[in-house]
Amino acid sequence: MTATAPREEQLWSRCAGCASLLYRKRLRRNLDVCPECGEHARLGAPERLRQLVDPGSLRLLPDQLPEADPLDFVDVLPYPHRLTGARASTGLAEGVVCATATIGGHPVALAVMDFRFLGGSLGCAVGELITRTAERALDDRTPLVLVTASGGARMQEGALSLMQMATVSQAIAALREAGLLTVSVLTDPTYGGVAASFATNTDLVLAESGARMGFAGPRVIRQITGRALPEGFQTADFLLRHGQVDMVVQRRSLRARLVALLAATRAGRPARPPVPRQEPAPRRERLADDGAALALPTGPEAGAAPATAADTPAVRDAWDTVRMARHPGRPTTLDYLDSVFDGFVELHGDRLGADCPAIVGGVARLAGRHVMVIGHQKGHTTAELVARNFGMASPAGHRKALRLMRLAARLGLPVVTLVDTPGADPGVSAEEQGQAAAIAENILTLTVLPTPVLAVITGEGGSGGALALAVADRVLMLENAVYSVISPEGCAAILWPDRSAAPQAARALRLTAPDLCRLGVVDEVVSEPSSAAHDDPAETAHRLRAALLTNLLPLLDVPPAMLVRLRRQRFRRFGANRASARAGLR
Ligand SMILES: [Zn+2]
Repeated sequence: MTATAPREEQLWSRCAGCASLLYRKRLRRNLDVCPECGEHARLGAPERLRQLVDPGSLRLLPDQLPEADPLDFVDVLPYPHRLTGARASTGLAEGVVCATATIGGHPVALAVMDFRFLGGSLGCAVGELITRTAERALDDRTPLVLVTASGGARMQEGALSLMQMATVSQAIAALREAGLLTVSVLTDPTYGGVAASFATNTDLVLAESGARMGFAGPRVIRQITGRALPEGFQTADFLLRHGQVDMVVQRRSLRARLVALLAATRAGRPARPPVPRQEPAPRRERLADDGAALALPTGPEAGAAPATAADTPAVRDAWDTVRMARHPGRPTTLDYLDSVFDGFVELHGDRLGADCPAIVGGVARLAGRHVMVIGHQKGHTTAELVARNFGMASPAGHRKALRLMRLAARLGLPVVTLVDTPGADPGVSAEEQGQAAAIAENILTLTVLPTPVLAVITGEGGSGGALALAVADRVLMLENAVYSVISPEGCAAILWPDRSAAPQAARALRLTAPDLCRLGVVDEVVSEPSSAAHDDPAETAHRLRAALLTNLLPLLDVPPAMLVRLRRQRFRRFGANRASARAGLR
């Protein structure tokens, strides 16, 4: 197309599938599907909405949010410059367009992601807008339709973007509880944090023909496994074959298919016409009222005196902390089960065909009280690390964890999780077995679990794999642990783009315990002995035990419904409180 004059470029376009030169108007009439080969070109959110909803029914929801740069993130470009560029090139305020509308006469709330806007990445604003759309569906008692297109979480917003996976998931959980249908339509491409949350934990998952979806991207998997990927890997047909989607739908049938599904549910019946209305009062304020009466420890200053960062003035560089968190001598989950807990009885298996060695779990006692402990297991030697897949859980591991969480709730046991993973297993079979949906279901389940949940980041808290065990009432973090949306190496490779910039990326990502405490992602830092955890495991265990007890005991008296409400309130604040979080970093 480079030789074509600009005016003709708008009249004609070249099909990415068969390279045919197509008249643009004809292509648009055909819903941007190539009439020659059937290739589905990517759609922007406005065009997608135009194709799906009844003419004249669209009511856009507000998209103006406070400026978002919670970390003051700078790579080779400051993040605000990237945002300005994305706004100018797309004409959108953010990477999602939200609306209410009718589809075949059925009222719905819709959130449609736009890949053109910073790769459709999930940041605080996108998470907040989708959450508000889900809350609107709950208030209106209508189904929620999500159209996803995303490379994953937005690195420039660090762990706060990771939290959005939980925030949107708990809004979906609320719709489940209310008996309202949720549908996601996967479009090309849907990856990472979006795939591992609201793209796959909805009631129904439709894949548009030609869409690819997965937790880890093909390039990452090829790099790590050094193997060629199977034909059609992560495509819609692959997903259907592996039981991960309800159906694969051609674009020309998508609207009719949605109409048929909406008609099948009570809430989707066009009994009541959509009523134009004012925005409801923000849900979080109502929740805050409920929580105000409870005397739970709520800030980084609360909790065990011997276990806060206050007595450890030494500030380590973020990259040094990353190396400390990965130190092979660092105590593992099994070490802590031996030193912090008593009478551990390990429980195995996901009951679906596998037992993942990277996740260990079972019942144990903490100061005489029975608890369910679930954690990632690494190892100290190469042989141990290999046997445990370096603490990278497979879908079977996430499903084992899910089984144990649910069991704990049934038995009235509190859950303690110990998080130490570079991330979820980025392998071919993990994708075949539904890694994204396995993580998504854990995140959603933790937002509804009617028993106390206390999470500790003990070493590496690597992205969605870590969050799958860390949606908790209280999140603690060992002083030299890290918790991040992406590894510094991965971030450097994409944004700088050179892996040798990992130390800079580590600093920019705000992945250390003190930074995450200031951002509110973590409630308390558990100090390590003056050298580090691996030099004095006994003292580390002693401090961790004290911190666990201080944080767990107040939770035991909270009624389950209140516990769940407060947990959701905790994860609801990350989209809205960005300004104050940012102030805390200065
Ligand atoms: Zn074509």
